[in-house]
Amino acid sequence: MTTPTPTPALDTHVVVVGAGPVGLMLAGELQLGGAQVTVLEQRHAPTTQSRASTLHARTMDILHQRGLLKQLGTPPQGGPGHFGGMRLDLTGPSPHSGQWKVPQARTEALLAQWATDLGARILRGHRLVALTHTDDHVHADVLADGHHHTVRARYLIGCDGERSTVRELGGFAFPGHDATKELLRADIADLTIPDRRFERHRGGLAIASRGPGGITRVMVHRYGTPATPRTTDPTFEEVTTAWKHVTGEDLTHGRPIWLNAFGNTCRQADRYRNGPILLAGDAAHHQMPVGGQALNLGLHDAVNLGWKLAAHLRGTAHPDLLDSYHDERHPVGARILGNITAQALLLLGGPEVEPLRAVFGELLTLPQARTHLAAMISGLDHTYPPGPGHHRLAGTPVPYHHLHTTTETTDTFAPLQTGHGVLIDLTDDPALATCATPWTDGRVHLLRATVPPGTPPPAFTAALVRPDGHLAWADGTPSSLQTALHRWFGPPHPHAARH
Ligand SMILES: Cc1cc2nc3c(=O)[nH]c(=O)nc-3n(C[C@H](O)[C@H](O)[C@H](O)COP(=O)(O)OP(=O)(O)OC[C@H]3O[C@@H](n4cnc5c(N)ncnc54)[C@H](O)[C@@H]3O)c2cc1C
Repeated sequence: MTTPTPTPALDTHVVVVGAGPVGLMLAGELQLGGAQVTVLEQRHAPTTQSRASTLHARTMDILHQRGLLKQLGTPPQGGPGHFGGMRLDLTGPSPHSGQWKVPQARTEALLAQWATDLGARILRGHRLVALTHTDDHVHADVLADGHHHTVRARYLIGCDGERSTVRELGGFAFPGHDATKELLRADIADLTIPDRRFERHRGGLAIASRGPGGITRVMVHRYGTPATPRTTDPTFEEVTTAWKHVTGEDLTHGRPIWLNAFGNTCRQADRYRNGPILLAGDAAHHQMPVGGQALNLGLHDAVNLGWKLAAHLRGTAHPDLLDSYHDERHPVGARILGNITAQALLLLGGPEVEPLRAVFGELLTLPQARTHLAAMISGLDHTYPPGPGHHRLAGTPVPYHHLHTTTETTDTFAPLQTGHGVLIDLTDDPALATCATPWTDGRVHLLRATVPPGTPPPAFTAALVRPDGHLAWADGTPSSLQTALHRWFGPPHPHAARH
């Protein structure tokens, strides 16, 4: 047993536990908002494991808004999407419509660099082992190089994945169910088999696709077989046996690179905040990674939470702002878990789901049904409750449009790079700008602009955009704008308010 070695407390505004994609995104968002962040990561080096590889349109929009797309280069398009294995065209209202293939390790490297450049401290080889908290402080007990350290912070966020220690130590309930069915997955070298896209055979489901470097990824499920309780990855023999059973093909001559099994586990923390402890990403919701939604959902949690917590720590936030993280993100998570459960039924169900698949297949040919599901999977329809009397666009992600100011060509995404709110004012009436002046102390940027001739105009003439790219207000009276500014950006600056 290691003897605790007392060391001086390390102080920081926020401890983020976990340098996965969600923790790194959150660290960058918090730093952008002026908070000081320490990220604790138990691994000594980033993992190169092949995991999520899909970024959806809403995530690409967010990376665009933060100015991070350039560093990503032009990732390959992921082709058509699917819903429960049925082809789904993901075209939607985004400049990055569709799905994009970016290995998770690449996304993590990009976000780690961004967060570090913004001043976040990432401590690798540091594992959270215990924590205590009062109403406004957290003491984290961290094990590094065999020694215990205390890190003291105002807030601690568990971004520590599906087996979250923070969730357990922080007293969060995690209702739902464990896996009843599973997909076996393997990346295999030295294999020549035909690609198979969600092929349904009599005995099960088979998927194969040859990727970069000649590695073939196979996934297989035998209908009617329950999930195996696992503490380790499946063996290659399990995969080849199941594959042979379903397709008749022999894979034993291949060389397994990575083996993995994932089931239809579905759990969600009942609340995302317990005093100064919060959860985001897989720590808050555990889902089957079908349709590549898991990683994207977690990144959107981080972008919703970062600016709110940073404003709260600056002391400029409305008292309810931080709690709006749970209020907004829990329902979005629940809805995605619902669509994933529906997809798992369609995908892993045997002959008994064929009638359901047939009806669903017909519905998918209807443009409105396709658009609806594409927006859901792409994250483009994740809206937040707009509040009574608000414009129909309030709560939705800001659409991309080209704009001109008196000095430059810009667009509706570019001003979000700084992480401030933005009032986009396309009117020639100074009333809105005057009304917003008490918030232009660094919290809200005023963008008076016009729509360039020949480009489609937005569906608003004025809109208040939150730092996470969601509209807080559109096309209302100056007094309703003031209410929205107060709600999302806190009280007006006292000196400006006196004028
Ligand atoms: C094997 C596997 C395959 C997957 N395949 C896909 C896929 O094909 N498609 C898809 O969309 N999604 C997939 N996922 C899911 C996707 O990878 C996750 O949704 C995503 O990584 C969630 O990000 P996160 O930051 O919330 O958690 P994670 O990426 O799990 O990161 C959590 C981090 O916290 C660290 N940590 C944990 N406990 C502690 C502690 N006590 N102290 C300090 N650090 C700690 C971990 O080391 C880890 O780095 C897969 C996941 C796994 C595990």
